Amino acid sequence: MKFDHFKADWHYPTNIKQGIGRILELPLLCKDLGMTKPLLITDPILAEFPMVSQVLTHCREHGIQCDIFSKIVGNPTEENILDGVIAFNKGNHDGVIALGGGSALDAAKSVALMVGQNLPLWDFVDEGDNWTRVNTSKMAPVIAIPTTSGTGSEVGRAAVITDVEAKIKRVIFHPKMLPHTVILDPELTLGLPAHLTAATGMDAFSHALEAYCAPSYHPMAQGIALEAIRLIKDNLLKATLDGKNLEARAHIMVASTMGATAFQRGLGAMHALAHSLGALYNSHHGLLNAILMPYVLKANRSEIEYKIRRLTRYIGLKDACFDSFLAWVINLRQKLNIPHALSDIDITAKDAILIGKMAFNDPCAAGNPIQFSEKQYTEIFIHALNGEI
Ligand SMILES: [Zn+2]
Repeated sequence: MKFDHFKADWHYPTNIKQGIGRILELPLLCKDLGMTKPLLITDPILAEFPMVSQVLTHCREHGIQCDIFSKIVGNPTEENILDGVIAFNKGNHDGVIALGGGSALDAAKSVALMVGQNLPLWDFVDEGDNWTRVNTSKMAPVIAIPTTSGTGSEVGRAAVITDVEAKIKRVIFHPKMLPHTVILDPELTLGLPAHLTAATGMDAFSHALEAYCAPSYHPMAQGIALEAIRLIKDNLLKATLDGKNLEARAHIMVASTMGATAFQRGLGAMHALAHSLGALYNSHHGLLNAILMPYVLKANRSEIEYKIRRLTRYIGLKDACFDSFLAWVINLRQKLNIPHALSDIDITAKDAILIGKMAFNDPCAAGNPIQFSEKQYTEIFIHALNGEI
């Protein structure tokens, strides 16, 4: 198949419009969903990009009275969500267009959830059967349009929101938070600088890899994870070194969506630690996962060695063994200019015990192949801090 014809409509795990220029179909997709007055939710930096005003103008020219709400910070907070709900109600909106990176998409999905609820946001934290408290009849429909390739939030049924008071990240979950329609238009990622292409791409990689290694039974998700890792292997470096390589960008975008589709299988210790460090240091989530990856792989070695061997054969590494995979990961990180140790991004040992405790209690810890203790999480963190593999 020639790349020019590389365009597809998929209906799994939700409706996905993939291909260059598909953003132009947005007004039609709004109409299909009965949206005539959607609220486009994004972050303030992206809001300044010509791309966003072009989308708004395009919608308005086609009879969609689209307004914009752009007060979403990186690592969004409850306050952001409540402000979004106020904007949605004030403007009498009938749907949400979620546009941006993971933070914007998570925040937009949470606004779409909260416009229909009387209970506070933290009542829907992903614990037990909290999700059954949601009044689904009043949730707003969502069209999700990622502009980075990493979080895969566009196909996620959850959102990560920071609890500023408790200084932790909480996961809000409901199956209907999965956006109704997704547009995967690689042209929207052309403006992403190399360091963010690398960090977000490594986040997608960590999703697929942790999902692949998780011990639960979900062969479909496992197959998706494998192919996502192959796409990342063949394209992440290309997309990072040459940001204009649209074909590589398209593959990484799809791999990112696949990573998040696969992690219904579970995530693991990389994310348990990255969430804890992200809450304490506000560092980039993808960058944290990228740095943590080899240390967590090493700690999990006894349980994942056979799976990694199978993976190396699929992605075509010369030596089909754990050590060659680990060496390849370290080499890729280096070529992508990802720091080797957490100390390189100004993280210190002062909260080591707390980080171990937070990672142990993070919901992602449950998906790790080995159930590490608080002490073991602290040890992995110290290794990653000092760059000792
Ligand atoms: Zn992640």
